[in-house]
Amino acid sequence: KEIFDEEDLDKLEDRPPVLTIMGHVDHGKTTLLDYIRKSKVVASEAGGITQGIGAYKVLVPVDGKLQPCVFLDTPGHEAFGAMRARGARVTDIAIIVVAADDGIRPQTNEAIAHAKAAGVPTVIAISKIDKDGANPERVMQELSSIGLMPEDWGGDIPMVQISALKGENVDDLLETVMLVAELQELKANPHRNAKGTVIEAGLHKSKGPVATFIVQNGTLKRGDIVVCGEAFGKVRALFDDSGNRVDEAGPSIPVQVIGLNNVPIAGDEFEVVGSLDVARERAELRAESLRDERISAKAG
Ligand code: GDP
Repeated sequence: KEIFDEEDLDKLEDRPPVLTIMGHVDHGKTTLLDYIRKSKVVASEAGGITQGIGAYKVLVPVDGKLQPCVFLDTPGHEAFGAMRARGARVTDIAIIVVAADDGIRPQTNEAIAHAKAAGVPTVIAISKIDKDGANPERVMQELSSIGLMPEDWGGDIPMVQISALKGENVDDLLETVMLVAELQELKANPHRNAKGTVIEAGLHKSKGPVATFIVQNGTLKRGDIVVCGEAFGKVRALFDDSGNRVDEAGPSIPVQVIGLNNVPIAGDEFEVVGSLDVARERAELRAESLRDERISAKAG
């Protein structure tokens, strides 16, 4: 699905990469995400605790300069699979974790297949290299036997050996990811109405429906009128990944949105429109077409 219109083409600017960590259960995805989240707070000196809005921004030193990237905070494949099934392509790079003491397992293959099908470049993190019985060479052999040839062996798949538990080589991993991102020349036009994808949503006790959006083009602003899936509303408040109120969010930036009339579904697209009437109409159309789909799915 094309994100850009013709009007965007001369206004494109660099945007941060959006990253997903995938891999077999127990191979160290959560440990890696936690380590990165913790080191991020130090890196940005924000001192804030991340609020768990489903994604967070990290600053990575590249050639001595801090460059932002965004991690989706839901390890595992369900979110990725669900979003892909809905046609959403949020992730720019997949980091696939393979434990050095275990090797390729069913969900490793699943992750590789997901990334391939979505056309997303892959960086392999060979994890748990601190463990007795870790055999990264064997993992590299296994990966090359299924067509993922390590860069170090003349192939095109970057592989970094890490210990997420000890934080060993995690900086190398992030730097490698940023290099892959640079080659992708990721761009967006921040000077237009926002559109993007819902990555998480739910009903909050006092805030009502809350949704985390990742802006994929344009800039989302407080007061904007959005439609996403069957939900719509005026953006009453925006919160960043530290829980701070913000006035706007640009390309690739995750932001929690308050003001929707309903809870959307992860993978729903959102778009800023001109008026509440337009938003309501679009949301109703969408609800109708979903109803039709369900009916014909039942009949079929
Ligand atoms: P996930 O299911 O892929 O999210 O895996 P977790 O991050 O929950 O890790 C599973 C287990 O492996 C936990 O007990 C972790 O402490 C352990 N683990 C994760 N990374 C490492 C590592 O780099 N070294 C060692 N020794 N253990 C690790």
